[in-house]
Amino acid sequence: MNADVALLEVNGLKKHFPIHGGLFGRETARVYAVDGVSFSIQRGETLSLVGESGCGKSTVGRAILRLFKLTEGEVYLDGERIDIMRAGQLRGMRKRMQVVFQDPFSSLNPRMKVRDILAEPLINFGMASGRGDLTAKVEALIDKVRLPRDAINRFPHEFSGGQRQRIGIARALAPGADLIICDEAVSALDVSVKAQIINLLADLQDELGLALLFISHDLATVEHLTHRVAVMYLGKIVELADRRGLFAQPHHPYTRALLSAVPVPDPAAKRQRIILTGDVPSPINPPSGCRFHTRCPYVFARCRVEEPVLRTITDGHLSACHLDQVPDAQVLPLAS
Ligand code: SF4
Repeated sequence: MNADVALLEVNGLKKHFPIHGGLFGRETARVYAVDGVSFSIQRGETLSLVGESGCGKSTVGRAILRLFKLTEGEVYLDGERIDIMRAGQLRGMRKRMQVVFQDPFSSLNPRMKVRDILAEPLINFGMASGRGDLTAKVEALIDKVRLPRDAINRFPHEFSGGQRQRIGIARALAPGADLIICDEAVSALDVSVKAQIINLLADLQDELGLALLFISHDLATVEHLTHRVAVMYLGKIVELADRRGLFAQPHHPYTRALLSAVPVPDPAAKRQRIILTGDVPSPINPPSGCRFHTRCPYVFARCRVEEPVLRTITDGHLSACHLDQVPDAQVLPLAS
């Protein structure tokens, strides 16, 4: 462990998927799924990556996990560049970063008992020294995710969605990971179960010093869990800030629109809803200038031709919008 560097650092990550067609199967177009994303995560920190479906947030998670090759960019885990590591070298790093997917049922082998599901990574990564130690470690994992001990003798289909997600978390913890990527990990759960899983993740983070990359389409879900939030739109981060700054003073018009849809706990308090018109443009042919300009209520001429860069607004709060350089008094939406 290198305490002087961020646990995870992502620099200029791009992932373009070529589309092949025609008689000779030549590349005819590209899906610009992720187009220059940078962020870091410290030990024990939660960074949430939030945006609508198709914005590229899950692709970022999968690229970090090396489920495919990057088009461009660099990924460092604990100061070591992992995007160019060979398979043998990467194996040691893989146990340090694990993933919890949205649908634990499809990622848990239905023919394996929970005991074997949890034993598998312990054996694969050489984490147990003998049968007794293996059983003790499996039981410790089950205790950590607050399932009854007899769960280890059951199959995945015998559990509820929330319980299956606990098994998925236990499996991610098994190799001793210090970074867990939660890819829409609570999206399929109902509200009360979602809260229980979020509380469990927060407790595990406190206990084990885990770093979490929490990928979600829903700002409300991440509000009580996250330390910082990065908002993505069409392959780019448009705003990045700590939780308090982002929820209290969102800068980017897209973040404001997303936040306006988050229910406020006080029924007397009113938040003006910003309805975005139009669909998210295709990542095959993203708009010129600011990618959000086709839906932005504040769009002006410069937005259509010049791409705004992510710049610091206040300490640790970054936004990519030309309005950040315009005095507040001159900022009026085209329609409300
Ligand atoms: Fe809207 Fe222009 Fe800002 Fe983009 S740069 S978010 S189009 S005001």
